[in-house]
Amino acid sequence: MKITLDHVTKRFPNRNKKIHEDVIAVNDFTFEIPDGKLIGLLGPSGCGKSTTLNLISGLEMPSAGRIYFGDTDVTDLPAENRGVGLVFQNYALYPHLTVLDNITFPLGNLRGAEKLTKEQMRAKATEVAKLVQISELMERRPSELSGGQQQRVAIARALVKMPSVLLLDEPLSNLDARLRLQTREELARIQKETGITTIFVTHDQEEAMSISDLIVVMKDGVIHQIGKPQEVYDKPCNLFVAKFLGTPPINVFEGRVKGGKLYIGDDAVLDVKLAENEADGKDASDKKSKDGEREVWVGIRPEGFIPDENGPLSCSLQKIEVMGRDTSVVSTHPAFAGTTIRSIIPSEDTAGIGGETVRFRLKPAKVCIFDRETEKTIEFTQP
Ligand code: ATP
Repeated sequence: MKITLDHVTKRFPNRNKKIHEDVIAVNDFTFEIPDGKLIGLLGPSGCGKSTTLNLISGLEMPSAGRIYFGDTDVTDLPAENRGVGLVFQNYALYPHLTVLDNITFPLGNLRGAEKLTKEQMRAKATEVAKLVQISELMERRPSELSGGQQQRVAIARALVKMPSVLLLDEPLSNLDARLRLQTREELARIQKETGITTIFVTHDQEEAMSISDLIVVMKDGVIHQIGKPQEVYDKPCNLFVAKFLGTPPINVFEGRVKGGKLYIGDDAVLDVKLAENEADGKDASDKKSKDGEREVWVGIRPEGFIPDENGPLSCSLQKIEVMGRDTSVVSTHPAFAGTTIRSIIPSEDTAGIGGETVRFRLKPAKVCIFDRETEKTIEFTQP
């Protein structure tokens, strides 16, 4: 089922009497979720992820805008008539019911022509239990299950009516690190097998990047970027998105572009040609000065550094952390915007690194340039 949000806004009244403005949890969202895909809604705490999910499920009504499932306008349709399956962080299974009864519970509400016999319910539960691999647990109660198994029961319960849309709100955050990893793979598998359009809320960028077909990066109720995880990682639209994705995070330096060269401090690190509209200074925010110099932020992904004794970027070496296949080289530079630069180097390439200084050349595809004021990406090519 394709889902479309058309200029959707959600305001909540502000409970703080001193502040008269409403809280705008979701601000003018317009995007289309393609049929049968797994979408990760990603952003820092309070950015409006859960509200977006609640608007799609029908648990919240938008203050403005329309929501469509396929071509049908569902904006005024109550949650129970939208055909959505929901899984929350605290998946709240019924403790006194067996796994089987927990899974069949939503089917008990069906009435009229849709009403099912006990046998039909059992058959449907058996089918989804097989899908989420809990067939052998059907007679247990939730207290007799591990966290991961409980999570699977919650997913089975959400799937048993074969919803057209599956909405998952931080479904893995109660699981320990190893189980989280395993369950997220499971989720991706279940989604592929069922083909149900699935929207998955998380603040964990790695989780969203690893299993989503598309990610939606949000901040303060506004969508910043939508795209395939790798595309958004490689070509972030602004500094916020660049910093939000990636572990270790992107390394950000104060830089400038002058005479076709990108400088970090006094080091001319790349030859660059800024995209036409960026270089000609039409943009009101352009900080281009008289002598053609433009102040920018330079973002370099940790994997974008190549150790090279003749490389143009000269950093003070702090320490080397061997992590097995890769080595993390920790260094500093006067133009670095944070505390320490983290570069990830294949261990076999670190032989020459030592002493007080480490020099790098850069992989251009791993370098991003941002306007110093607007923090928007400036496209560039290498002449
Ligand atoms: P988290 O990751 O912390 O769960 P989130 O991205 O899911 O955050 P939301 O729960 O959607 O964020 O909240 C977005 C904003 O709307 C926040 O500022 C929140 O305080 C506010 N908000 C959410 N629900 C209400 C409500 N019922 N009344 C007033 N404000 C609300």
